[in-house]
Order: sequence, then structure tokens, then C-alpha cells
Amino acid sequence: MSREHYNRIFELLQKHHQWFREAIPLIASENVPSPAVREVLTSDFGNRYAEGWPGERVYAGCTYIDRVENICIELMKKLFRAEFVDVRPISGVVSNLVVYTAFTEPGDTMMALSIPCGGHITMGKKKLGGTAGAVHGLNVEYLPLNYKELNIDVDRTKERLKKLVNEGKTPKLVMFGASVFPFPHPVKELADAFHEVGATVGYDAAHVAGLIGCGCFQDPLREGADVMSLSTHKTFFGPQHGSVVSWEKHADKIKRATFPGMVSNHHLHAVAGVAVACAELLEFGEQYARQVIRNAKALAQALYERGFNVLAEHKGFTESHVILIDVTKQGDGGTIEQELEKANIIINRNLLPWDIKEGRHFMHPGGIRLGTSEVTRLGMKENEMEEIAEFMKRVVLDKEAPEKVKADVAEFRKDFQKVHYCFENAVEAYEYIKIR
Ligand SMILES: *Cc1c(COP(=O)(O)O)cnc(C)c1O
Repeated sequence: MSREHYNRIFELLQKHHQWFREAIPLIASENVPSPAVREVLTSDFGNRYAEGWPGERVYAGCTYIDRVENICIELMKKLFRAEFVDVRPISGVVSNLVVYTAFTEPGDTMMALSIPCGGHITMGKKKLGGTAGAVHGLNVEYLPLNYKELNIDVDRTKERLKKLVNEGKTPKLVMFGASVFPFPHPVKELADAFHEVGATVGYDAAHVAGLIGCGCFQDPLREGADVMSLSTHKTFFGPQHGSVVSWEKHADKIKRATFPGMVSNHHLHAVAGVAVACAELLEFGEQYARQVIRNAKALAQALYERGFNVLAEHKGFTESHVILIDVTKQGDGGTIEQELEKANIIINRNLLPWDIKEGRHFMHPGGIRLGTSEVTRLGMKENEMEEIAEFMKRVVLDKEAPEKVKADVAEFRKDFQKVHYCFENAVEAYEYIKIR
């Protein structure tokens, strides 16, 4: 009985790998790591404990672990031109919790974007079960979004800040950054206003960390941010993990918030994988990030020309890896997500900023979100974005049978099996590696 389950698990894993070989991965929060990162993830580091800071560990057996973690810190500092980096938070969510713990107390007020406006569940209110409210007890007030510009409204933010101060709800923290993040946020324009009232300026770079590290988006630390949290597996093409980047003067409270606050073991195999990904980004990242953005613009343009309502056309659609499409004329985001999946095109449904007000729900929102990080890592360029737009048109606009499109998608994918922008790629991107 258990042997059957055991076998079934491997069968399913291999099916998943085969599927992704033949699919177009357009989830904006995902990416594919290099074979080098995958190798590191299978190492014995993943079975060890190393609580504390390198050189001051609670556990023995960390000789080599410490050296690798120090390399990770050094490379990460270089990538972000940062004075201090804590590479121990095990995910973007945990990184945000470290920021909340280091810079606020439960009961404090934080400003961030609402979820329909692109904010992440970690920035959510208590009544929504969001991390900031439900886990750290923060009172969340929303940053106003300009719907047309798909960006934070600077003047309205200043007004709302004044109002909060007058009501005795002065924010202790503002979190810039989002999960739908086509344009750089106005950190430079707003940092002073928040600093003047004593608030910490935070920046959640979960999505755009890879683009920032490669100098292709904005530079939050130089624009006035005190601290930046990130995920290491979205545009930053490492293993699933997190990090907090900041200035030396905040080092002690961030370290304490991470350990003993937020982690015991901190996934040492992932830290090693992040170090490898940092080395790849330092070597190949600029080329990669530029192509990610060029691909996003090209995909948006190609979809727009075919009749999709891609938002922010007047601004060139996007300056990052992400594009947002209003699909209310074609149906709803949930149904379209499913139809595209049947054609092996993997995207996700997404709330549009005005969806909740118009009575739409997360299961069937008005939008879809696409990201070009992973297809770029597979070596695709502008021409391939045209082809992807055509596949999507056939499914969503022409209502062609998805199974028919699926065969063409698989054929198209044959030429893109290796991971690019890395030192070595002996195995294919989605090759199933057997070591049993
Ligand atoms: C993805 C995301 C996170 C969470 O990252 P995980 O690594 O999945 O925990 C946090 N903030 C934003 C804005 C995100 O998009």
C-alpha cells in the first residue's frame, strides 16, 4: 500500500516536469532556477541547523555552512549596493514579518497598498486575515492608487498621511512595493514626508528584486528607503527564500527580529542556492533583466494589437516584468485562467484595482496578470512574445479549442528547453533529476 503511494508520488512529479517542458510559464511570481541552483538544493545543507549569525552559531557542524552564508551575504550586498543584508528569512512573507517586527510594535499603523490595488496578503488588515494585521497586530491604512497610472498617487498619499497624523494615527511604517508592480513606486517623492513624521520607509521588492539588483528598475535604498524585503525566486531567479536588505545602523534590530524572532533553521540549502543565483545575477543579470522588460513590453504590445485590453497603454504598458489585462469583455479572469491552462499556457487571474467596488470576487476577477521572467530565462525574445500573444488570442479571443492550441504550444516550446543567463546548463530546465 505505502509502496504504491511512494511510486505514485514520483510518477506525479515526473508528469509535472513533462508538463512544464511543454507549457508556457507566465506566472509573474515564478521563475526557473539554473541546474546549479537545483544541484545545491539537493545537498546536505538542507538537513542541518545553524541558528544565529555566521561565526556565532548555536549549533556545531557549521564550518562550511558559515563560509557559504558569508559568500551569500557578500554577493547580496554587492548586488544591492547595501551596507547590511540578512539572508536568513526563509521567504518573502517571513522577510516582511522581520521588517514589521524590527520597525513596529503591535497596535502601530502601517500604510501599504490594498490587495485589489496590487498589495500582498502580507500587507493585509486583520479582518482579511492578512499577515500585518492578523500576525503582527498592525493597523493597516491604504496607500491611494491612481487607477489610470497604475501607481501610488503622490498628492493623495500626502493628504492621507496628514489626515492620519491629525487623527493621532501617525504611521510607524510605510511599505512600498506590490504584487502587481508595472511601474516604479514614488519612493523618492514620498520618503521625506514619511520620515518627517517619524515613519520607517520600507520597500517590498519580492517581485522586482532581480530587476533592482541588475540596475533595471528603481533603486529604493538610494531613493530614501530604510529597509527592503524580498523573495529570491521571482525576478530574482534563485530558490524559494527571502532576505532583508538595509543600512548598517538597522543591522542589530533586523538580526534580532530574524533570529530568535522569525526563524530557527533557516533553510541552509536555499541560502547556498541564493548565493549561486547572486553570482549568476552579478555576471549575467543585466542582460537578463533588460530582456525581461523588453519581453514584457513586447508581449503587452502584441496582445494589445490583437485586441486585448492591456492596461496602461499610454505609458507603454509596463517598466517591469508584469502586465495586467482587463478581460471583462472576454469573460472573467478565473475562467480564462482555466481555458489557458488547458492550452498549456500558465497565467494567473488577478483582481483589478476597481474589482471589489464593482462586485467582482477573487475567484472570478476582472483581470489576468502575466510575467515574462521565466520565459526570458528559457531564452525567449521579442519574436517569441508575438507567438505567445497569438496563442493567447486563439484561446481567449477566437475561442479556439484549447486542446488544439496546446499541440502548437508544445511544438513551439521544443526550442526552449535550457536555462539561460547562467554559468552551466548541462541538464534541461525541467529535466527530472533522479538520484534514488
Ligand atoms: C510574493 C510576495 C511576497 C511573499 O513572498 P513569498 O516568498 O512567497 O513568501 C511578499 N510580498 C509581495 C509583494 C509578493 O508579491
